[in-house]
Amino acid sequence: MNIIDGKKIASEIKQEIAQQVKVMLDKEERPPHLAALLVGNDPASETYVNSKGKACKEVGFDSSTYKFESDISEEELLETVQFLNNDPDIDGFIVQLPLPEHIDEQKVILSVSPRKDVDGFHPENVGRMSVGLPAYISATPNGIMELLKRSGIETAGKSCVVLGRSNIVGRPISILMSQTTNPGNATVTVCHSKTANLKQITSQADILIVAIGKPEFVTADMVKEGAVVVDVGIHRVETDQTKSGFRLIGDVKYDEVAPKASWITPVPGGVGPMTIVSLLMNTLKARNNEIYS
Ligand code: NAP
Repeated sequence: MNIIDGKKIASEIKQEIAQQVKVMLDKEERPPHLAALLVGNDPASETYVNSKGKACKEVGFDSSTYKFESDISEEELLETVQFLNNDPDIDGFIVQLPLPEHIDEQKVILSVSPRKDVDGFHPENVGRMSVGLPAYISATPNGIMELLKRSGIETAGKSCVVLGRSNIVGRPISILMSQTTNPGNATVTVCHSKTANLKQITSQADILIVAIGKPEFVTADMVKEGAVVVDVGIHRVETDQTKSGFRLIGDVKYDEVAPKASWITPVPGGVGPMTIVSLLMNTLKARNNEIYS
């Protein structure tokens, strides 16, 4: 069994990005600039936005956060989005989700200029990705593709089963794995909560990508011997075995599945570290006008 080492791969990509930023600075060009819009005081969202700021600093990007109280009106938020859309010093920005209930999330996503949509949530980017045009691809699926590529895992002609069909993970990764790219060229099956005979389907998979949000749902009897297993799930569970009093587990029962797998992502240290790095990759593309010239 081989570990798909997300921590190591993410660190390598960060070094590559930092090198490209250095070249820009040496030429006296401005570095890429990533902005984040944060509404309210959700601790998980605050942590995530802070991590983005830290990652930007590490690679030499500029970063800024536009923070608002949770009672901000939809109109005011949309005005800020327009401001960021038009600010030539900002290459890309993200709107941290979830937003408070009185704000229409889809309306906000649609108001972000596709050219600055480094989260890849705008339907224009989703559509471009679906037909194989250059696009900002959302962070987690982009990170999974990068993990497969950099680990040298063969995907062409393989049977790939994706567990989950969310707009941010399951759906886009199923599209990417079926594209005529490398990684890609897989024969993809998408499973969800209405799928019948789930175990029968997952146990045929050469590549199993799990994003269902249920702790340790995938057990050894659901996995084919020698499969590649990508675990997207992250769950914090209490334990008396760590100083912090908790540990992270995935959607896959790692201890029993890992011995059967040819490759597997651990949790933590697999898909997780790739998410912020993907956002940095997209911001660099935005700075270089690689997607929309
Ligand atoms: P989500 O929006 O809740 O989607 C879960 C999907 O799993 C849905 O399509 C659902 O089917 C399906 N599902 C639920 N129960 C099922 C069952 N018993 N059998 C088969 N399918 C079932 O979740 P998500 O946003 O994709 O996230 C999935 C997990 O990944 C979560 O643990 C999340 O925390 C984690 N995550 C991690 C990262 C990272 O950076 N590592 C990023 C994003 C998400 P229906 O469509 O029929 O409801």
